[in-house]
Amino acid sequence: MSVCDLCGSDVNVTEYKVAPKEEVVNLCETCKSQIESGNLDEGYFNCLNDSMWSENSAVKVLTYRLLKQLGRADLLDMMYLEPEEQTWAEYEEEVLKDSNGNILKNGDTVTVIKDLEVKGAGKTVKRGTTVKNIRMCDVPEHVACKVDGIGSIYLKTEFLKKV
Ligand SMILES: [Zn+2]
Repeated sequence: MSVCDLCGSDVNVTEYKVAPKEEVVNLCETCKSQIESGNLDEGYFNCLNDSMWSENSAVKVLTYRLLKQLGRADLLDMMYLEPEEQTWAEYEEEVLKDSNGNILKNGDTVTVIKDLEVKGAGKTVKRGTTVKNIRMCDVPEHVACKVDGIGSIYLKTEFLKKV
């Protein structure tokens, strides 16, 4: 039987992916619900005192993130992460939002809310243009998409409105 990698409980233990890697840790119901809701009970998470010494990178990375969220600089100072683990731990998923603050996802359809010049192409994406199937991309605050008559471009999310 598997137990929670953080607190050792065996209540409804399931796998939890430590993004952006595919590696997982085992979490009990209580740990998981607190982590997913973002409401961490500091008293409950005393278990991090132990999990911070884990040999398992995924457990260390998750513990590091939680300690940071809890503001436990004292414990973070004692932790040792390999450079690769450090990068992993500091990874933050970029959440892209449209002009109204709605979260954008792959495959969404948006409309453009103002005329946008396409740099270097001498073309303009007109206000009101509907763009289907947007994609997350490497350019911060932009989505990748294909616009009829223009081609594959990046659009800044603050000029888009989710349909
Ligand atoms: Zn737990």
